[in-house]
Amino acid sequence: MAYVFVCADCGKTYYSAASYMNGIKNTCQSCGGRLVQIYPRPRLGEILVQLGYITEEELETALRIQKSISKMLPIGKIIMKLKPLHDDIITKAVKIQKKSMSFQKFHKEKIT
Ligand SMILES: [Zn+2]
Repeated sequence: MAYVFVCADCGKTYYSAASYMNGIKNTCQSCGGRLVQIYPRPRLGEILVQLGYITEEELETALRIQKSISKMLPIGKIIMKLKPLHDDIITKAVKIQKKSMSFQKFHKEKIT
């Protein structure tokens, strides 16, 4: 198994040989929602990029700030400072991240 994606809207799971970085067609075939990579486990910032709320450049800036201030500072908080996002967006991203964690836990034997 290579990469696993989930639809942010209907929750349908997709398997792909290519990562989101390598131009997977990132729309759900059932509902047209956006697909987000859940395996390998993405970081919160990467989920926000995949959902289209922030750009790669904005994520890089946030990561650079995090590195210079404190690794303990949640990336979501830094992104919010750079670009005010609605709470719902962060909630959505966190939900996908949790799904990603449980997916990884559930499929651990099969993947590794
Ligand atoms: Zn869908």
